[in-house]
Amino acid sequence: MFAAKLVCTKCGEEYSLACGVYKCTKCGSPLDVCYHYDDIADLIQDNDPWFREHPHVWKYWMFLPVSNLKKAVTLNEGGTRLYRAKRLEEKIGISKLYIKNEGENPTGAFKDRGSSVEITKALEFHAQKVIVASTGNMAASISAYGAKAGLKVTIVVPEGTPEGKLVQAKMYGANVEVFGKTYDEALAEAERRALEEGYYLTGNYHYRVEGQKTTGFEIIDQLHFNVPDWIVVPIGAGTHLRAIWKGLKEFYRIGLISELPRIAGVQIEGYDSIVRAWKTGKPIEKITKKVPTIASAIAVKAPVDGENVLKAVKESNGYLDTVTNEETAAAGLLLGREGLFVEPSSATSLALAQKMREEGIIDKGESVVIIATGHGLKDINTWSKVLTS
Ligand SMILES: *Cc1c(COP(=O)(O)O)cnc(C)c1O
Ligand SMILES: [Zn+2]
Repeated sequence: MFAAKLVCTKCGEEYSLACGVYKCTKCGSPLDVCYHYDDIADLIQDNDPWFREHPHVWKYWMFLPVSNLKKAVTLNEGGTRLYRAKRLEEKIGISKLYIKNEGENPTGAFKDRGSSVEITKALEFHAQKVIVASTGNMAASISAYGAKAGLKVTIVVPEGTPEGKLVQAKMYGANVEVFGKTYDEALAEAERRALEEGYYLTGNYHYRVEGQKTTGFEIIDQLHFNVPDWIVVPIGAGTHLRAIWKGLKEFYRIGLISELPRIAGVQIEGYDSIVRAWKTGKPIEKITKKVPTIASAIAVKAPVDGENVLKAVKESNGYLDTVTNEETAAAGLLLGREGLFVEPSSATSLALAQKMREEGIIDKGESVVIIATGHGLKDINTWSKVLTS
């Protein structure tokens, strides 16, 4: 294993990999796994079979914090296709537009990349029962990987979570508990119960980041180690965006790519705490009102990785903005015409790419990868309403 230690993303405090903390005990910020990158570089350099291997999460095992690969809990996550969308390119006026279709994952969302690593770690820590707070997709995903590993899974979801995601979690045998009106309330409850009732806590923490950074690895791999100009990522907690940027920087650091893309993050209207901070230069302030949205998977009032999103966007000379429910619905219908059915939250990335092109932030000659984070069948009620309105 090439993982070395955990480091706080804010204050720099270090922790050993063996310690079971899920955030910095000094300042409360998210942690990050650090590696011996020179050793990874030595291993990969001129390793032709590795380069030829088809992309999937565990192809990148040397960048994952797991010591016994035989014990990896996997449902063959990752390896999702990257589609070139020629008709959309013409419509929007971009020379190259690719869609990374994360709905092709085992439970229908990119969360499986992180769950595979997180549940593998849960077994390493001898967990018997795990708990997770979720807007729905992470719940379904942890339920599936927990089932595969033979663990007891409890999920805590807010009221109004799409039924498809709850039925999915129940089919995997999870104990489903509805708590609070928003994801943020469900999260506080899951963290409290983990502490008081001895659950192993899963969710938007450092081991999930490690699995989810493989979205970035795969995009580069699938473009034959060419780097796109932009990658556009929907933001809920911000963990996926943070993870993708981490993965790209790791590839850069060991010399697999010689430049980095710009990262654009998108929030849905009403849940725009990071975008506001970005535009005003002020600290991130949590959203206080719950507003109706079609993008329930990214309706997060206090994103745990908000600071890390700001850092990633600044470092990459990237961009942040919101899109409206109407723009998102229209983008979802456009993706449908490309043969891709995505859930509402996933359509925000196309909506933002369109907006950035219109505003001239994305240039006509640039290449853009948008992340379609989850499958459309996850939330058919919302799309039904869009179709009949
Ligand atoms: C979880 C999720 C997101 C947001 O990802 P974060 O890591 O929370 O920022 C976006 N879209 C879908 C479909 C999701 O399930
Ligand atoms: Zn800290």
